[in-house]
Amino acid sequence: MPHEYKILLKKDVNYIIVGQGLAGTILAFTMINAGLKVVVIDEQNLSMCSKVAAGNFNPIVFKRLVKSWMTDELIPFSERFYKEAEQFLFEEFYWKKEIVRIFGENQEKDFWIKKSLADDVGKYLSKNIVDDFFINTVNNPLGCAFVNDASNLYVVKFLEKFRNYFIRNQLLLDEIFDYSELKVESNSVNHKNIKANKIIFCEGYKVSENPYFNWIPLKPVKGEVLTVKIENLKTDKIINKDVYILPIGNDLFIVGATYDWENLNDTVTEKARNQLAERLSKVIKVPFEIVGQQAGVRPSAIDRRPIIGLHPEYKTLGIFNGMGTKGVMLAPYFAKQLVDHLEKNVPLDKEVDIARFVHLF
Ligand SMILES: Cc1cc2nc3c(=O)[nH]c(=O)nc-3n(C[C@H](O)[C@H](O)[C@H](O)COP(=O)(O)OP(=O)(O)OC[C@H]3O[C@@H](n4cnc5c(N)ncnc54)[C@H](O)[C@@H]3O)c2cc1C
Repeated sequence: MPHEYKILLKKDVNYIIVGQGLAGTILAFTMINAGLKVVVIDEQNLSMCSKVAAGNFNPIVFKRLVKSWMTDELIPFSERFYKEAEQFLFEEFYWKKEIVRIFGENQEKDFWIKKSLADDVGKYLSKNIVDDFFINTVNNPLGCAFVNDASNLYVVKFLEKFRNYFIRNQLLLDEIFDYSELKVESNSVNHKNIKANKIIFCEGYKVSENPYFNWIPLKPVKGEVLTVKIENLKTDKIINKDVYILPIGNDLFIVGATYDWENLNDTVTEKARNQLAERLSKVIKVPFEIVGQQAGVRPSAIDRRPIIGLHPEYKTLGIFNGMGTKGVMLAPYFAKQLVDHLEKNVPLDKEVDIARFVHLF
């Protein structure tokens, strides 16, 4: 019997959280910080999404060179959140990391220069065009420029360190949550021997198996990444052109990502491997070796906004989901918003409130 089971023979908490991906972990830490008692129930292998995330935090949408949704609010909030998490665990997993945008066409470069002078988005775009960025390694005939205020979370480490913390403090049950064992009352819930005021589901795309919330309109999208070895590219910046190339040390880089709305599973494919390798070979001039490949399914909502709040009928059941392609940026801010909603009745932003989909229930 795993040791986590012994400790939870009987437990009375404020919240049960189902899922310890980015959403569940960030929500649990937010609740702990607010003085609330939680138990997290998670079986790690049901969804690989968070475990394969590159962890990039990009304030810009490259196609249109506009700010990504709520960037100005999300950046300072997340930065504070991850710094606090680092201090809490005495670990390091969050860094500022510049993104280098390699231009594919002159038009794109001209558009960048124009946008870098604009009032709103300009502060995120460097004004200088650089022509000699890794001239012997990177294909860069038209030059490149930099995104300011981008950052990166080493997601695997973040999740693992929190998992260890939860285990040490007897807050984690390592098992598949059994929906048929959930007893829903008007003021509490019971799951086996755990009693809580409420339960919040954070199962990512696996919410499709949750009988209480399987009606929320997710449009999940599978993504794959490669780990490659590239010698002679000694940069600490993320390179972006059709793919991103994220340095992770020891000449290793994560190259991503693909988008597939059909095959919703965590299995890696040759098609994605070839696609990413081909794109990479157009960006760099030197050979590379593929040393790993991973896949996960992003829990995107049809309107690309988080889906959070309480069940329309059972007010002891809640959801924190729909983080889509941007869990690193979105989850800290909206975890706080959900906790304020649950504990202080503060209204949720309409754009993320599950109430917008209540007609589907
Ligand atoms: C290839 C790829 C690259 C990405 N890159 C980035 C990036 O650079 N930046 C960024 O911000 N985002 C990125 N994302 C998106 C990011 O990964 C997601 O937004 C985020 O991970 C979603 O987290 P989640 O906790 O909602 O879901 P998940 O990560 O799916 O977590 C759900 C957890 O719940 C568990 N679970 C589910 N059902 C049950 C059950 N019944 N019982 C017990 N446990 C259960 C699962 O096993 C899992 O541990 C990327 C995603 C992919 C696939």
